[in-house]
Amino acid sequence: MIYSPPPGKRWPVAILGATGAVGQTFIRLLAKHPWFEVKEVAASERSEGKSYREAARWIEGVMPESVADLIMQPADPSRISSSITFSALDSSVAGDVERAFATAGKFVLSNAKNFRMDADVPLVIPEVNADHLQLLERQRKERGWKGAIVTNANCAATVAAVALAPLEEAFGIDRLFLTTMQAVSGAGYPGVPSLDILGNVIPYIADEEPKLEREMTKLLGRYEDGAIRKAPMKVSSHTNRVAVEHGHTVCITASFRKTPTVEQALEALRAWRGNEATLNLPSRPERPLAVADEPNRPQPRRDVDAGGGMTVTVGRVRPDPILDIRMVALGHNTIRGAAGGSVLNAELLAVTGRLGDA
Ligand code: NAP
Repeated sequence: MIYSPPPGKRWPVAILGATGAVGQTFIRLLAKHPWFEVKEVAASERSEGKSYREAARWIEGVMPESVADLIMQPADPSRISSSITFSALDSSVAGDVERAFATAGKFVLSNAKNFRMDADVPLVIPEVNADHLQLLERQRKERGWKGAIVTNANCAATVAAVALAPLEEAFGIDRLFLTTMQAVSGAGYPGVPSLDILGNVIPYIADEEPKLEREMTKLLGRYEDGAIRKAPMKVSSHTNRVAVEHGHTVCITASFRKTPTVEQALEALRAWRGNEATLNLPSRPERPLAVADEPNRPQPRRDVDAGGGMTVTVGRVRPDPILDIRMVALGHNTIRGAAGGSVLNAELLAVTGRLGDA
């Protein structure tokens, strides 16, 4: 049974870090959401007391009227009444703030790195590992929180994990090389100075390679007896910032415990629909993963908005002379890799009855 609020009603939600690149994406995605309505916005002291219109340097399209006159609140649970909070906070503050919100009984859907690898915190991509939400029972028990923290992954890890989930399920990944070309919007707003990135490639993104390497094994791991058994694969990554507005491209080379042919790999990728529990969620795209047949795809300019930014596109699936298979994956970093992923997590919490009477 799909749980949804009574007809004509939506759950009130707050957005923490509402002024930033991910915060603004939340505002756009939730403007017409059937279940959630943005009632509160919060960010730093710099924004507090201003209207959202004044505080946010709006980046894309037209700011929804429904939020323009909301007054910016501090990121303090005593000032926020909504039980459901989407967090797009900078990681320098996310740890303390998100903990305070969970302690105060709020559901926190977090985009920050702070809690992702904690043993009792679900790191969720609904189509890939919806069952990891079972960690919430352990989280509540061990931390004594009335609320909860559910995280979504690093944006490049999300793209790679969606692309690789069918291959992990069918053949078991043994070794993995990932090389990313990551969009400037992944660095937040105002982000990378234009003179550093225009006509340039920056072969370093602080802390990105460790995040990508460790999160892959948790995302593709299995829930067993109150814990995640990490996927037994070795991961090596190079991460690069490139002059692309939206969309992280990941070049993937993998070896498998059961080596597939290219045809078998393609068959697994094409057949994959992701976890059935997600099939009717409002933010789930028809195809979480699409295969592009053209030899020069996927490309950010042409493919980043597939499935409203929620579909990951893979292409160039071919044999590899050192490992087994290589391919290219692309996904939208602020939608699938951030705000859209969080909204999908909240929808999954709702249909599995975990939002209760929030
Ligand atoms: P951003 O554009 O720099 O926005 C950061 C937000 O945090 C702003 O709303 C800012 O508010 C707020 N903030 C900063 N210091 C604060 C404080 N002391 N107290 C309360 N709020 C504070 O960054 P972003 O790209 O949106 O990223 C947000 C989070 O998502 C980060 O943890 C990031 O790692 C993660 N993430 C980003 C992406 C992406 O593609 N961009 C993808 C996945 C995950 P003010 O405007 O008031 O300063």
